Amino acid sequence: MNLESDADDLRSPDVHLNLNVRGLPLSATLRINELSNKMLREGHRVFKMGLGQSPFPVPMCVQEELRANAYQKDYLPVAGLRELRAAVSEFTFRHEGVRYAPSHIIIGPGSKELMFILQLVYYGDLVIPTPSWVSYAPQASIIGRHIRWLNTDFGTNWKINPEALEDLCRKDPDRPRLVILNYPSNPHGGTYEAHELEAIAEVARRYRLVLLSDEIYSLLHHEGTHVSIARYYPEGTIISNGISKWCGAGGWRLGTFAFPNQLDWLRDAMTTVASETYTATCAPIQYAAIRAFEGSIDIERSLVQIRRILKALGQMMTERFRRVGIKLNDPKGAFYLFPDFSDHREALAKREMTTSETLCNRLLEDTGVAILPGADFGRPPEELSARLAYVDFDGARSLTAAEAIPADQPLDETFLNTYCRNCLQAADRVCAWIEEIGD
Ligand code: GLU
Repeated sequence: MNLESDADDLRSPDVHLNLNVRGLPLSATLRINELSNKMLREGHRVFKMGLGQSPFPVPMCVQEELRANAYQKDYLPVAGLRELRAAVSEFTFRHEGVRYAPSHIIIGPGSKELMFILQLVYYGDLVIPTPSWVSYAPQASIIGRHIRWLNTDFGTNWKINPEALEDLCRKDPDRPRLVILNYPSNPHGGTYEAHELEAIAEVARRYRLVLLSDEIYSLLHHEGTHVSIARYYPEGTIISNGISKWCGAGGWRLGTFAFPNQLDWLRDAMTTVASETYTATCAPIQYAAIRAFEGSIDIERSLVQIRRILKALGQMMTERFRRVGIKLNDPKGAFYLFPDFSDHREALAKREMTTSETLCNRLLEDTGVAILPGADFGRPPEELSARLAYVDFDGARSLTAAEAIPADQPLDETFLNTYCRNCLQAADRVCAWIEEIGD
């Protein structure tokens, strides 16, 4: 038997791959992470600012809970462990002031998976701002949904303008639409004020939009004052959260969706698809997550320091970039910056960098700083924007050090140089590089 030719018969991606996935690359965040790790293994100096992974450790009490529950081996209920759903319900009430019954919570293997299933079961257009997180649009394309991008701009801090949303909806008022709003934002670190959310909520109510409020960075608002749009549009808002960011457990893969009563048909459909796909979320992780959502004094204390570090570091990097003519908005939450290099367009073009992709490729080659092109977030390819995740430092060490500094003292440059050194060095390399190019 000729194994070679048999194998050849199986290899026809141009014919046998679903059209919606044909040519689709690995998700940008994971691609840059794998490339950075490969370069590190090959001995290159790399500043890992591509993947948005929390540098901070999972709180000790949550780790202990995972250890204690390693023996849990049963399949759990499809929608999630009852006690965990109750803890998420309380958490959402405590932080957002909105009551979602435990029976209206779904636990999934990462909020990303839940988002995919939501898009699969909901038959409508996806409406997202540009820039938006890398996976919302590819998920819609895989499923075959229409994507409507809502343009935003640097001058208005990349925020959705309620009138623009209204204009889009007015054209075809009865069309079903799913709007995803993510704040504090990945990719730009900005967020919305309460009155801005109220204005968006009004439009959402008028057009009966389903709103997925991606609040995975809610507890990483730098001032700790996150407000959910669910306060203003409770009947149509699904809140997405999880333990990946504020709890530092991205690799544990656990996400949560909280549904209003009015959307129980969506919740039920999602649960059915979950039962036919992932079955249930990993049992020991669910038991451990109860502790995370119940919260504790220690978790609260850590969060205060985490916000303090992220705020100081985000501001310091922003100041350094601005000094060399790289434009940025003030970061308000999460751990992302969205620098715009357009004031250096001419100098960059002379070196054949005319798109965000060529810019980021050359930056990585020349400086070892790995960041992602704005185009991966839905920006026009020729716009010279990029996303930088300021997470390349030892979170545990910085946390211990910050705790020792009195709350009324700022975390200054000396602190950041000692504990978040790679991030500042990366900023300096980018600044020196752009200055050299401009000369
Ligand atoms: N949310 C993170 C990021 O944007 C990583 C997780 C992912 O993309 O799956 O970098």
